[in-house]
Amino acid sequence: MKTDKILVTRSSMPSYEEFIEMIKPLWETRWLTNMGVYHEELENRLREKLEVPCLSLMVNGHMALELAIQALNLPEGGEVITTPFTFISTTHAIVRNRLNPVFCDIKPDDYTIDEEKLEELITDRTVAVVPVHVYGNICNVERIREIADRHGLKVIYDACHAFGESYKGQGVGCFGDVSVFSFHATKVYHTMEGGAVAFADEKLYEKLYNLKNFGIQGEELVTDVGANAKMNEFAAIMGLCNLSNIDQNIALRKERAELYCKLLNHVPGLKLPDFGRQNISYNYGYFPVLFADRESRDRVYDNLRKENIYTRKYFYPLTAEAECYRGKYSLANLQNAKQISERVLVLPLYPELDYDVIEHITGAVKRYLAS
Ligand SMILES: *Cc1c(COP(=O)(O)O)cnc(C)c1O
Repeated sequence: MKTDKILVTRSSMPSYEEFIEMIKPLWETRWLTNMGVYHEELENRLREKLEVPCLSLMVNGHMALELAIQALNLPEGGEVITTPFTFISTTHAIVRNRLNPVFCDIKPDDYTIDEEKLEELITDRTVAVVPVHVYGNICNVERIREIADRHGLKVIYDACHAFGESYKGQGVGCFGDVSVFSFHATKVYHTMEGGAVAFADEKLYEKLYNLKNFGIQGEELVTDVGANAKMNEFAAIMGLCNLSNIDQNIALRKERAELYCKLLNHVPGLKLPDFGRQNISYNYGYFPVLFADRESRDRVYDNLRKENIYTRKYFYPLTAEAECYRGKYSLANLQNAKQISERVLVLPLYPELDYDVIEHITGAVKRYLAS
């Protein structure tokens, strides 16, 4: 079967007419950014959608992470326990805040930070924990809260993969001191580029508002070393349009994830994601499969590429192994993270992915796995 390029994801879009209609007023008002009316409307709508007490929109998920960490006023040089099995942004956000990442291993079942190994890494320099709800698998939020409270640590969740998910009926953004979302074009829900910080402490709203606007408090008063992380009105409008499709898109993703599970069930040498975990409502953002060894993972990846199927080795290499961090941080006791990053492959998954393309992809995976 000759196929067009199949990428790991494909951005969902509202109808052209709907978007054009929505942006029309901007030609009258000429208010294009700087916390406009659509920015405010989207903040309100997302607070409801994500079921979080407070929310601050940002220009992207990375700046949301950076500013969320900055807003917590952690002492410079402090240690932050985090996972190396994530997108590089998570680690960069810690380092760019002049904090030191301390990498903790992950669990082999859901790839989130191993909360039982976390406590051993706490020293008197530890100031915070940055776990990641990787692939939408929600961390052990209860145990992490308990450990953090006992040691007086802040908890910053990277929830960039977990838009719209809930745990025990509570929005995923309600856990930790802050939770950070990405609305990048490749994510389950997007504003082209965008992100948000969710939190319960109302005082953080003003702090983040200030930090995303250069730290400017008034015309002649700058109180913080802020950045420019404001979401513009075009992005906010894309976000408002995409909110009307999000539930349907997640339902379409679910159907496709279930088809993958059906077609790849019981294939020897392949472990599938478990969407059946108790108390979690998934968004089906990713379909990560785990191979028995690196060789078979790489063989399938290479051969699929030749057939125009572009899977991704998320997350290989580990962030701790990035060139820019070489020799700087300890890679000790990261056995699970290392093994999984060498054996994992994320298969294409998006709402418009045709069933016959999924059959084509799974057929190819099985063929190259057996070869
Ligand atoms: C996408 C992503 C980010 C960064 O978000 P951007 O909106 O692309 O800046 C951070 N962490 C994780 C886990 C992500 O997947």
